[in-house]
Amino acid sequence: MTREVVRSLSTAYQREMKFSQHTTNDITISADRPKIQQAVYIVMDNACKYSDEEVLVLLKETDDHIYLSITDQGEGLAEEEQKQIFERFYRVDKARSRQAGGTGLGLAICHQIVQLHGGNIRLDSQPGNGSTFTIELPK
Ligand code: ATP
Repeated sequence: MTREVVRSLSTAYQREMKFSQHTTNDITISADRPKIQQAVYIVMDNACKYSDEEVLVLLKETDDHIYLSITDQGEGLAEEEQKQIFERFYRVDKARSRQAGGTGLGLAICHQIVQLHGGNIRLDSQPGNGSTFTIELPK
């Protein structure tokens, strides 16, 4: 599923997206597939929308969780912005966000979907230095 989303977004945006899988085999988890696909799509779509460079996607696992990290080399987010990023209708007030359009609902929806699956979404970012969103789901 991750590969499918990577393929479709990389075609839509004509963007280099690198997918690496640090797992022994493909992983099957019990989840609502269309909903998880929507959550993954939102984060990857943002990575393409708010950056111009290559996007890296990394799938990792532990005994009981999977971790899907999406890293972009965009503008990144300040600490104050990071605190509000998963709230409904929140949009960073930058020319870039205004140009890109959108409602500010994507990440709130993603957060809800992931939490309803017993998982979590984290953001690591530094202004000017890109962002990594990590979706964590129980196996
Ligand atoms: P939509 O609801 O159509 O997805 P949106 O992209 O504005 O619109 P969110 O996905 O919730 O909504 O994102 C909220 C805000 O967070 C965005 O407006 C943008 O300012 C910021 N943002 C999200 N992802 C990134 C990213 N990868 N890099 C920098 N800023 C981001």
